[in-house]
Amino acid sequence: MTPQGARKPLIAGNWKMYGRAASLAELSALDAAVGAAGRRIDVLICPPAPYVQPAAAQARRGVLIGAQDCSAVREDSARTGEVSAAMLADAGARYVIVGHSERRSQHGESDGLVRRKAEAGMAAGLIPIVCVGETQAERAAGKVGEVISTQVRDSMPGEGAAFVIAYEPVWAIGGDRTPTMQEIAEVHALIRETLVGRLGDEANGVRVLYGGAVSPKNAAELFAVDGVDGALVGRASLKAADFSAIILSHPAAS
Ligand code: PEP
Repeated sequence: MTPQGARKPLIAGNWKMYGRAASLAELSALDAAVGAAGRRIDVLICPPAPYVQPAAAQARRGVLIGAQDCSAVREDSARTGEVSAAMLADAGARYVIVGHSERRSQHGESDGLVRRKAEAGMAAGLIPIVCVGETQAERAAGKVGEVISTQVRDSMPGEGAAFVIAYEPVWAIGGDRTPTMQEIAEVHALIRETLVGRLGDEANGVRVLYGGAVSPKNAAELFAVDGVDGALVGRASLKAADFSAIILSHPAAS
């Protein structure tokens, strides 16, 4: 069994479709601000696809670079607009986010497609961050447990345990509300139980992040919740000052 304290925390920033080449200056500022804490915490930035390669070239020291999505297709083939996991790995990515709620809702991505993307990422040597989360309507209907356990079971890779789960309540993303700390602890316990059901002891090495309205104001409280191994951060990852404040509020930073 891997106790929670033995899992290296991961704090990941998702820049979504924001930024330009000049935004990569934030990476240097982040590196400088995070300093030695970056050795005890995996700090990850997922910029838009065109910036993965220059970001990885620049962020040689502390900050890890990842992608926000990848194709489920592994072979080089005629697929206009698609970017394969192998290309992202070649560009210097170490992680790939799959199944973000914006991909699920804006691009109709199913659990099955998310799973195939996660598997394509793993086959290319990337660590997939598989996102799951309930809508407001599902929460109001008392369906959180059913929705989350189904999404985890059906979206996680079919083999291996070299992946991360991010619990991101859809209704919390982009807003200023989060579930209560008790509710977050309950969902994280359920995710852990679901992972153990599928992977046995190997599941204990899988990190489970919380995402949705994480900010410098609430990060310390969120990181103290049982079962929370780090965070997936949207808006507050765009500026090094905010993101480093989040990282430095993790207990492993000091
Ligand atoms: C996200 O998009 O994954 C996210 C958590 O966004 P925000 O932090 O802005 O709520």
